[in-house]
Amino acid sequence: MMNMPKPVVKYRHRIYSSSRPVYEDLRWSQAQDCLVICDSSGAPAVRALLAQPHPERLIVVQLNGGNIPGKDNLLAQASQWIDRAPAGSALLAAGEEPLLCALRRMAWEKGYSADAMILQRTGRALRDTRCAHCHTITSNVAFQAFTCSGCGRVLVVRDHYSIRLGAYIANMMMPEDPMIPEMLETALK
Ligand SMILES: [Zn+2]
Repeated sequence: MMNMPKPVVKYRHRIYSSSRPVYEDLRWSQAQDCLVICDSSGAPAVRALLAQPHPERLIVVQLNGGNIPGKDNLLAQASQWIDRAPAGSALLAAGEEPLLCALRRMAWEKGYSADAMILQRTGRALRDTRCAHCHTITSNVAFQAFTCSGCGRVLVVRDHYSIRLGAYIANMMMPEDPMIPEMLETALK
């Protein structure tokens, strides 16, 4: 028993990287043209922002009567605004992370600068994730592991985030991994 084999690192999902995106509290930038956008969880942050002196040319989507549009509606309005946004504008958003991920994806596709966006994460800990195997993006993932909506593999959500993709990377777990049941029920933070 003198020459015991070295243990093999079998389950790579226990190694975490740390490229999670940075969020910050909403604040007014130097921009004179701003779009302010939020979901219901981000509404208090936007109300606090609007209580401060703010730029004249300001579009707020949308706190009228507390009736906040759904995510698709918010994204459609942001898309229209970005298409016409003058140079030096700013996009401010507060909400759950999948909304912010979708805004980042859209900004990337339209060539809108990430530096012109101030994003505050609020609400539940949900993530948009991209399957490393079939490239399907699954939105609103709430647990450390989940079943891919594209290929059906059980995936582990990594902390590695792609700005370009606007999503976290998710890799396959080995089917015999004993951690799967627990991770399928362990909420993300
Ligand atoms: Zn997949």
